[in-house]
Amino acid sequence: MTTLLEVFKTMDYGPAPESPAAVQAWLEEHGRKFGLFINNEWVQPEETKTYPSYDPSNGELLAETAQAGQKEVDAAVAAARAAFKTWSKTPGVERARYMYAIARNLQKHSRLLAVLESMDNGKPIRESRDIDVPLLARHFYYYAGWAQLMETELRDYQPVGVVGQIIPWNFPLLMLAWKIAPAIAMGNTVVLKPASVTRLSALLFAEIVAEAGLPPGVVNIITGSSKAGSMIVAHEDVDKIAFTGSTDVGRILRRQTAGSGKKMSLELGGKSPVIVFEDADLDAAVEGVVDAIWFNQGQVCCAGSRLIVQENVADKFIQKLKTRMGHMRVGDPLDKCIDMGAIVDQGQWDTVDHWARTGIKEGGELFQPEIEMPDKGLFYKPTLITGLDPAAATVQEEIFGPVLVSLTFRTPAEAIELANNTRYGLAGSVWSDNINLALDVASKVKAGALWVNAHNIFDAAAGFGGYRESGFGREGGEEGIYEYVRPAWMPRPRPDFKLDENEKWGEPIPALPAMPDTKHANGAERPALDRTPKMYIGGKQARPDGNYTLAVLGAKGKIIGQVGDGNRKDIRNAVEAAHAAHTAKPGWAMRHGYNRSQILYFIAENLDARNAEFVERIVAMTGRTKKSAQDEVNTSVERLFTYAAWADKYGGTVQETTLRGITVAVREPVGVIGIACPDEYPLLGFISLMAPAIARGNTVVMLPSEKHPLGATDFYQVLDTSDVPGGVVNIVTGNRDHLIKTLVQHEDVDALWYFGSTEGSYHVEYQSAVNMKRTWVGYGLPRDWMSREQGEGHEFLHEATQVKNIWVPTGE
Ligand code: NAP
Repeated sequence: MTTLLEVFKTMDYGPAPESPAAVQAWLEEHGRKFGLFINNEWVQPEETKTYPSYDPSNGELLAETAQAGQKEVDAAVAAARAAFKTWSKTPGVERARYMYAIARNLQKHSRLLAVLESMDNGKPIRESRDIDVPLLARHFYYYAGWAQLMETELRDYQPVGVVGQIIPWNFPLLMLAWKIAPAIAMGNTVVLKPASVTRLSALLFAEIVAEAGLPPGVVNIITGSSKAGSMIVAHEDVDKIAFTGSTDVGRILRRQTAGSGKKMSLELGGKSPVIVFEDADLDAAVEGVVDAIWFNQGQVCCAGSRLIVQENVADKFIQKLKTRMGHMRVGDPLDKCIDMGAIVDQGQWDTVDHWARTGIKEGGELFQPEIEMPDKGLFYKPTLITGLDPAAATVQEEIFGPVLVSLTFRTPAEAIELANNTRYGLAGSVWSDNINLALDVASKVKAGALWVNAHNIFDAAAGFGGYRESGFGREGGEEGIYEYVRPAWMPRPRPDFKLDENEKWGEPIPALPAMPDTKHANGAERPALDRTPKMYIGGKQARPDGNYTLAVLGAKGKIIGQVGDGNRKDIRNAVEAAHAAHTAKPGWAMRHGYNRSQILYFIAENLDARNAEFVERIVAMTGRTKKSAQDEVNTSVERLFTYAAWADKYGGTVQETTLRGITVAVREPVGVIGIACPDEYPLLGFISLMAPAIARGNTVVMLPSEKHPLGATDFYQVLDTSDVPGGVVNIVTGNRDHLIKTLVQHEDVDALWYFGSTEGSYHVEYQSAVNMKRTWVGYGLPRDWMSREQGEGHEFLHEATQVKNIWVPTGE
């Protein structure tokens, strides 16, 4: 007779398949052939080229979809533009009703959506049913709320216009929700292109939206290749590009849109750390690693693909992990009992396998459990590679598959260093029973989402997005809506310029010998005392490295002074000083807001004390009236007060997510910001940009107005007497474009603000793609720096910060 113990020992999972019948019926209903969804109608392009979509778990053809060309992209953008006229004027409450109807309809069709998603992408039905589709509906509910609240809470903003959205294949429905829900909530209309290998669920979504009664043209879905994506990006009548995908393609799009005035958000790749401390609940952490790297077969932008485990528990932990891997079930995505489904397509399978083999070549030890695998379909075993060097390509590059690499550390400082030793900065998790340690480490890892004792938790009420080469912009939460609005006073910038192919932008311009006016007041020739202002680097006055000076002309064309002609070396010194001031212990960012506000008040006080001197300088430089110069100085003092006020009032919020616990959105400084000031309002322009940046904990390299630099050089004496730590504000004078070019190419500069020419704006955006720096440029358009709405406020604070969400589950 079989004993109970034997039953337990020999028990196995039985299959629990979800039926594909409803999906097959839906595909049949469409003749397994889909057109493009424009104006709430199916459009079948003439001379249709089609593209097949296969089920990666068994290779069966699901359907063919149309490949959009230029004509179809134009039609979709035209439909969105026409719809924008009414949709953007539709009251928020009405938009909220439509979005609520969409959310309800999505829930009604949730099973069909989940099964289709699993068949098209290969992800386990457990995930599409319990995570992807519920989150899809949740986003439409959440942003229905923001549509409702826009008129009261975002009074100073307007929709952006027609938005082009391009998404990847790993979460076809969720990525679509992240993009479409906030966009249409804010009154925009969209043209969305899903990825080539997963396009069917977006088409089902389109039908559901139309069924819910959304007006034609608000949401248009066009299928096609990367060429169609590129056509959307290039389209003149598209006002914003929202892209999720690889960093390499993100870089292409950044360059393609440079200088166009299109708003842009980029959600790119990652190589996120999972940091396990010796005092963690190791069994829970093993489950955490499973969620981190084998969720969706590791095809997750924020996958915890780098395990960083404390050395003294590393052997034990790896052993436990290997045992757990031996119990994972890989197989039919529609089986409710499996842990991992299929890799999305053959190309991706090959990439994953290439990286696993590279890991071995790089000296790693590869472990794959002895588990049963399906005999057909694109399945890949959960894989662990240990023993790699932190600099190995397998450790540094995003694999985007079920391959985990593991490293060890001894001290928390080393763990943080290893975690940040990457060009990415998307996410990470910290495992420890010591809450102080966990939160300290979470706050020091440079990434947009950090989970404590958890990984891969998402919700519409918290934003998601990267630092560094993981992109910029946020999707989700209140922070996500700012990607889809622009200030009410600002029309879409449409910079008009022609690039001169022969012009080498930012090349050093030989300084003209500048002789100051040596005439004494009584007319007698005599040598003047040299009052050439120095640069200001690391809290000290510094002579320009090249020892050249530039003449500064006054309003009447006469030389009124000289400034140093900065070069690459000066910029490098200034960046080094800014970087040191940022990272020193405790660096500027670590100071209390209270302390930073005190310093800003002190700067204001000292500027005010020298009010008359600055007025005189502005009059001499610009030829404006004394009254106008006086207004500029007074407004500058006021503006310093404004940001002294904001120094301790913009730190973040507690997000109301569905997590039982706390999700905190912390607005962190961006880091070292290079700032090129406008020529209008030489003092106020400088202060309007410097003050918000330093108020929020950034350190800056300021390039004052090239035409009127003397206001800024006088200003360093104010800084000197106001307790500003050395390196927080650095001032380099000279040719603006030459200096900004060095800044934009510098790896230690995190963001660029450029208020110079239209062409310069183009070059800054284009060149920032080198390491995906965040940029904010003025496109050479005039801005009224005197006015409050254009010269200060949330727009400035937003540019000076990046949101990190820290998730801390509590209780059950
Ligand atoms: P991908 O190759 O960059 O493609 C993403 C999308 O861009 C697809 O729709 C693709 O179209 C389109 N595309 C490709 N080249 C284009 C071009 N030159 N112009 C316009 N569109 C173009 O990325 P993927 O392989 O689909 O997705 C994986 C990547 O996405 C990973 O790096 C992952 O980390 C990242 N990701 C990031 C996040 C995030 O929130 N940060 C979330 C999910 C995924 P085709 O499919 O037709 O080529």
